[in-house]
Amino acid sequence: RLDVRHLSRSFGALSVVDDVSLTIAPGQVTCLLGPSGCGKSTTLRMIAGVERPDRGEIRIDGQAVFAPGRNLPPEARSVGLMFQDFALFPHLTVAQNVAFGLTGDRAARALRVDELLERVNLSGYQKKHPHQLSGGEQQRVALARALAPRPRVMLMDEPFSGLDNRLRDGIRDTTLEILKDEGAGVLLVTHEPDEALRMADEIALMRAGRIVQRGSPYNVYNAPVDKAAAAFFSDIN
Ligand code: ATP
Ligand code: MG
Repeated sequence: RLDVRHLSRSFGALSVVDDVSLTIAPGQVTCLLGPSGCGKSTTLRMIAGVERPDRGEIRIDGQAVFAPGRNLPPEARSVGLMFQDFALFPHLTVAQNVAFGLTGDRAARALRVDELLERVNLSGYQKKHPHQLSGGEQQRVALARALAPRPRVMLMDEPFSGLDNRLRDGIRDTTLEILKDEGAGVLLVTHEPDEALRMADEIALMRAGRIVQRGSPYNVYNAPVDKAAAAFFSDIN
């Protein structure tokens, strides 16, 4: 469970994230949706622990990972990360990539790797190298790698935008199915309304650093909070 309270961040005079609060329950997908530059990636990066907030609190399963006097590093936060350029380590095999964040003995790690590769439909790919895989296959390895340490929250920043349309829908659906199964909360950043409407349990609509509306896809689409929100959704074809 992710709880974000009053998160803010400025760069110089520019207030990029302004008093953002969010809650994501286990197995729930929340889409952070908004136009380019509104502060989505910065919000996600602060939750991940790679960008420092000016103010606010972040809790994961009740544990403060960022709060006054406290700032846990990314690897101690129980978050998984998937970005658009999900770069696998080219010199490592698929199995080594997936095992990268794992601790424990060799046999236990190998078991977890096999289990994850099976989940993403890449059984038997252990010894291949990234350059031998298609974009979609690489994406699935990246998913397995992100899932390996059993994150409580998966943070995804437009992870599907590098894939062609034909691949995207399938991978997107599989990915969310697996994450829900594992009981991870998902924060999915996108600037595409149709993606958010399709994937989200809840949409948080962001504009100029603030969350201007939160609700179910049905609610946000049918009862936009203002004209700008209505216009944003009307671009869907
Ligand atoms: P997009 O949909 O294009 O990815 P976004 O909503 O993810 O946009 P952010 O990347 O969060 O937007 O950036 C929000 C604003 O903050 C932008 O105006 C950006 O230029 C600015 N910004 C982000 N990081 C920095 C930084 N390190 N230093 C200065 N300005 C920054
Ligand atoms: Mg971004």
